[in-house]
Amino acid sequence: MKITDKINALDKDEPFFSFEFFPPKTEHGMRNLYARLGRMSLMGPLFVTVTWGAGGTTAEKSVDLAITCQKELGLTTCLHLTCTNTTKKIIDKALASAKAAGIRNILALRGDPSRTSEVNKLSKEEAPFQYAVDLVKYIREQYGDYFCIGVAGYPEGHADGFYDESQDPHKDMPFLVEKINAGADFVLTQLFFDDRSFINFDALLRSQADLKNKEIPVIPGLMPINSYDVFKRATKLAHATIPDSVLGRFSEEIQCDDDRVKEIGVDIMTEMIEDIHEKTSVHTRGFHFYTLNLEKSIAQIVNRSSLLSQVVDKKERELEECVSDSSD
Ligand code: FAD
Repeated sequence: MKITDKINALDKDEPFFSFEFFPPKTEHGMRNLYARLGRMSLMGPLFVTVTWGAGGTTAEKSVDLAITCQKELGLTTCLHLTCTNTTKKIIDKALASAKAAGIRNILALRGDPSRTSEVNKLSKEEAPFQYAVDLVKYIREQYGDYFCIGVAGYPEGHADGFYDESQDPHKDMPFLVEKINAGADFVLTQLFFDDRSFINFDALLRSQADLKNKEIPVIPGLMPINSYDVFKRATKLAHATIPDSVLGRFSEEIQCDDDRVKEIGVDIMTEMIEDIHEKTSVHTRGFHFYTLNLEKSIAQIVNRSSLLSQVVDKKERELEECVSDSSD
């Protein structure tokens, strides 16, 4: 099913959440993930997404994982696809496999340009895509309305490390509007820890005069804090600022204690969710978790959040009804 159809089928203020997974490198990792996916699906995510290695490096594994999520686990699945330095052949194959497996959702991304000269040697005919908007247009040309297309948004601005380090959401905004007007149906954001950046970004996007779909779902991307080192590394990679009000909660003593870091991380995420829900103009009610293929913190966050725990409660009621129906 399309993600937007699922969102539209919810009650007006009904919350939802979704999970991102990446394909593990080994068979053993894959088996562990399948078990975890089975458990995490019981929380009731509206959809799951599967990442894609830039240039198609994980193409087979990403498509296999997405197919398993969609067909075997019955989860509404969204396959990420990056297009820069990627041949049309790879993109065509991934889109055809997704369609054949009943996957209706694609996150259309540019990806990061490769620094290796081999990949950069691809001709314009072989690899015709430069920006994410080119992929959005291509999917619409080839598949009409079959796919629901998501695109990336950057609350603090996109840092194009390879070319320039400047970040400014105002600078990217015309290009985000271009992606939406070309046919994108929803926006998933980069991770952030400063709520204000998301609240301002959401308002800025909706105020754009040339934006055709003013009601487009903009889903904030949240990364649970599982260890202090990973938290610091991920925020650096994503060029996300850490407000003093967040950083100040991790004293030197706490930084080395993973259990305490996780507990504080759960508090921070829960507060962020309530704050974003309250302060965004259209009352953001959907949240996307960068799971890093881990489950514990996510389970604690959704259970602790008064907003998202409604989803888990509903899922539990549905499962109970299912069990009592089958035992009748
Ligand atoms: P674009 O929208 O094409 O924008 C890229 C840059 O070019 C921006 O700075 C933009 O302002 C500028 N720009 C856009 N159009 C134009 C134009 N016409 N003229 C001039 N400048 C322009 N990467 C992966 O490799 N695999 C993944 O699975 C993956 N998943 C992601 C999921 C999410 C939710 C997010 C937020 C990012 C993800 N990324 C992933 C990272 C992403 O590929 C990089 O951030 C990449 O650098 C930009 O991709 P984009 O789709 O935002 O690009």
